[in-house]
Amino acid sequence: MDILKIFFPDRCPLCERVRPFSQTGFCPECNLKLEKAKEFEKENTDKKYYDGGISLYTYESVNESLYRFKYMNRPEYAKSYAEKINDELKDWLLSLAPDVLIPVPLHKKRLIKRGYNQARELAVEISKLTSIPVNETCLKRVVNTAPLKLLNREERGINMKKAFIVVENVVNFRRAVIIDDIFTTGSTINAISKELKALGVKEVYFLTLSRAGK
Ligand SMILES: [Zn+2]
Repeated sequence: MDILKIFFPDRCPLCERVRPFSQTGFCPECNLKLEKAKEFEKENTDKKYYDGGISLYTYESVNESLYRFKYMNRPEYAKSYAEKINDELKDWLLSLAPDVLIPVPLHKKRLIKRGYNQARELAVEISKLTSIPVNETCLKRVVNTAPLKLLNREERGINMKKAFIVVENVVNFRRAVIIDDIFTTGSTINAISKELKALGVKEVYFLTLSRAGK
C-alpha cells in the first residue's frame, strides 16, 4: 500500500468521494454521468489557424469537477482525466501522431496565485500514458487576460490577440496538439495556433477535456 495514499487519497473527480486503495479515477456511478462532447466542426465564419481538434466531454457534465481542478487546489484530478482521454481518444491521437503536446500557458501572475497550471498538469499526465512529449516552455502568455466569461465573442477575439508569444525554436515541430481543460469559442486555441504557425509549426490541433456550448 502506498503510504502517501493515506494522506492524499485518490478522489473521484466528479463526486469527491475517496476511492478504494485498489482503484483510481471516476467511480462507476460517476462514469455514467460523463457526457461525450459532439464532434468538432470547423465553422467557416472567422479565420481559423488550427487544423482541427477534439474535446472529450460536455462542459455541463464536468463543470463542477473542472472548477475544483482549477480553483480549489485539485491538480491531482489531471491523472483521472488523462486516463479517460487515453481510453477514449487514443485512436485519434495515434492516427494524428503529433510530435508534441503544448499546454495552454497561464500568465506568470496567475500561475503564482494558483500554484499550478491545470493545462500543464493535464498535458504531463497525457504524456505519461501516450509517450508523446510535452513542451511547456516554448509558449508564454504575456498578457494577463480578463476572465473570458466576462467578455462577448468579439471581445474575446480582440482580448486574445498578442496574448501569447513563442519564445523557443519550434520549427522542428511538424504537428502540435494544444492541451487545455476547456474549449469555449476557440479564441485561445486560435491565437496560439497563429503564433505557432507563424514560426514554422506545420499543423496545429487541439485536445481539451471539455467543450462548452453546442
Ligand atoms: Zn464519483
